[in-house]
Amino acid sequence: MKKITKSEKETFDFAQDFARKLKGGETIGLVGDLGAGKTIFTKGLAKGLGVKQTIASPTFVLMKVCPIQNSKLKIKNLVHIDSYRIKNKNDLISLGVEEYIDRDDAIVVIEWADRVKKILPKKTKFIKLSNKIGDKREIVY
Ligand code: ADP
Ligand code: MG
Repeated sequence: MKKITKSEKETFDFAQDFARKLKGGETIGLVGDLGAGKTIFTKGLAKGLGVKQTIASPTFVLMKVCPIQNSKLKIKNLVHIDSYRIKNKNDLISLGVEEYIDRDDAIVVIEWADRVKKILPKKTKFIKLSNKIGDKREIVY
């Protein structure tokens, strides 16, 4: 499916709604160029899941585990990964990602997922964000 957003807020809101469909155990791979909105999408996702802590662009911190305190949800952590500098499976393993993948109390979201496609789980849900004119972004999901 495809969605066109016309502002940062629309992408954020879209991701917030998207989060409500998640059950736990999903790996979400975000694909798109610099500025396409991968981090904004992650922020919306985090809001939708009830993450309280601020989501930063994890370009220097490769992985961040964000706790979720919501007694109604079984999802307890959002794991945010930036794979811009991740080259191989060993890099991912050394971050400790495997501990969270496929766990039904965690959601794993990976920016620059196309760079590590080969080492992601088969069931990864890929979301492609593209820069369009001005503030328009296309989200294919
Ligand atoms: P990425 O993580 O893909 O590099 P970011 O989410 O960090 O991108 O940044 C997206 C940038 O584009 C932000 O500065 C945001 O304000 C801007 N922007 C403008 N329009 C949109 C839109 N429709 N959706 C998301 N971000 C947008
Ligand atoms: Mg980013």
